[in-house]
Amino acid sequence: MDAEVCVVGAGAAGGIVALELARRGIKVVVLESGPRHDFGQRREYARRYLKHENPWRTPLPELDRYTPGGPTPYLLDWKRVRGVGGSTLHWEGYTLRLHADDFRLRSLHGIAEDWPLSYQDLEPYYARAEQSLGVAGTPDDPWASPRSTPFPLPPFPYSTSDVRFDSACRPLGIALHHLPQARNSVAYGGRAPCQACSTCHVCPTGAKASIDLTHVPEAEATGNVRIITEATVLKLEVDSSGGVSAARYARPDKVEQRVTARVFVVAAGAIETARLLLLSGSRDLPSGLANRSGLVGKFFMSHPSIEVTGLARDKVHPFRIGFSTAMSRQFAVERDRATRGAFMLEFMNSAGPTPERIAVTSGKWGQALRQHVQDDFGRRLGIRVYCEQLPDRINAVSLNPRVTDYYGNPGPYIHSSVGRYERRALDDAREVAGRIFSAMGLSDIRRSNLVFAGHQIGTCRMGTDPGTSVVDPNLKTHDVPNLYLVGSGCFVTASSSPPTLTIAALAIRAGEHIATQLRRSAGKGDPERPQRLEDG
Ligand SMILES: Cc1cc2nc3c(=O)[nH]c(=O)nc-3n(C[C@H](O)[C@H](O)[C@H](O)COP(=O)(O)OP(=O)(O)OC[C@H]3O[C@@H](n4cnc5c(N)ncnc54)[C@H](O)[C@@H]3O)c2cc1C
Ligand code: SF4
Repeated sequence: MDAEVCVVGAGAAGGIVALELARRGIKVVVLESGPRHDFGQRREYARRYLKHENPWRTPLPELDRYTPGGPTPYLLDWKRVRGVGGSTLHWEGYTLRLHADDFRLRSLHGIAEDWPLSYQDLEPYYARAEQSLGVAGTPDDPWASPRSTPFPLPPFPYSTSDVRFDSACRPLGIALHHLPQARNSVAYGGRAPCQACSTCHVCPTGAKASIDLTHVPEAEATGNVRIITEATVLKLEVDSSGGVSAARYARPDKVEQRVTARVFVVAAGAIETARLLLLSGSRDLPSGLANRSGLVGKFFMSHPSIEVTGLARDKVHPFRIGFSTAMSRQFAVERDRATRGAFMLEFMNSAGPTPERIAVTSGKWGQALRQHVQDDFGRRLGIRVYCEQLPDRINAVSLNPRVTDYYGNPGPYIHSSVGRYERRALDDAREVAGRIFSAMGLSDIRRSNLVFAGHQIGTCRMGTDPGTSVVDPNLKTHDVPNLYLVGSGCFVTASSSPPTLTIAALAIRAGEHIATQLRRSAGKGDPERPQRLEDG
């Protein structure tokens, strides 16, 4: 099969790049490892989700084999989805722009590295990403960087618990603001408004944006995009000129096939993108493809997270909607980040155990059980903290030949540790949450164990120096002229904000760049070197 561009992965990054190219008349083949999840199945999926099943689980679980390692292992279970839409099928939909300072940690605080592009460079692309995902919000975040466009949808109103948090926070000098999210507060993009049914990891109405609904239909309707599902790319083949000539893939029958193209875009998520490059090594490229820097897989990051909860005397009416509506970015920006990370506070609308959890752990029956559930449920308030994790070379994705996947390829080994920088931030966050809860008169204040968010970042960092980075600011690899890596793998630092709006903005920008380069090289009529792109 032949295409102008071959995209690996149909998640946020791959789906958005494919649409950007298809709109400009470029023929794209997308190879997606997972299946297409029919929207008609969503209600059934929601039922399964409520029974604690994972409806997004891949039909080939052996594909997801991996090895966690290091002092604070990063567990991948429930943290990614294979399928058309990728992990946006079950994400929360929180869509924050990074702050301008997040791009300049080295210049401002003398740590990590600066990004090779600025907030101002990305701002117009953030605006387009918000339009296409349908972000509901209002510009009340005092710590947001300037924006050129209003939010496309009005915000979700504060919940009853947000109002309580707000009145406790004000005297403490802590400001709440609305949490921007890719979720329909009103009908938008042909999708229904949110029905407050509370199963957001499986949205049965389509009110929560996911790439299979927001981008893929439009991309396919152009007639320029063909998506091949359950097609796992096993290796990228390199020709004598050093460019990628084909993506070798297999479907569940394990028969290998190839797609040739002029340009290849790997958008397989931060872990699988690094893994595919490492798997694509050869005798000439012993450390893997696009890895002259030795940095493919290195600087893996996420957002270490804790929840702090407290018990109110009266009912606080949790679990009425499946998402949060208020947050504070005060401690993510106004802070000396030289020695401790930024952190974000999410004021949760659903904290504490659900009625069924209280029931099954009570050991009670009949009227006593009924009374126990009534007394215990609905009195916990919670604050979730996401903390910035510094890039550290030791945190890395590599290959583990002892644990192989469905196709017999080495699975990823993920080494993960959390250092003093992050732990100090989490201690500060717990202290801030404790102050808020004390002001609210809550008792029994508890802190959860440290977990990681489902955000996988780093592994193919962006930069201008081929010695210290894998891709350039257009997301083209330094080493291979027709290979792009799109997604949060390219992030230089993690900030404390969820990554996907930035993934989307960068994907739009990369799509635009690839289209321009293809047009330019077509104009020059360079049939002898069809896979080469212009530099720049
Ligand atoms: C529970 C949860 C909640 C989240 N909530 C938020 C949130 O509120 N806000 C936010 O910003 N982010 C959130 N995220 C993160 C967000 O989902 C991801 O950042 C985003 O979806 C990543 O997009 P991507 O396209 O880069 O990767 P993915 O979505 O992982 O897509 C990659 C695709 O590539 C495919 N693929 C992988 N390897 C191959 C291969 N070899 N061949 C072919 N195809 C391949 C995969 O099947 C997958 O479909 C959440 C994640 C989780 C797990
Ligand atoms: S609460 Fe809204 S966004 Fe969440 S699942 Fe229901 S309709 Fe979808």
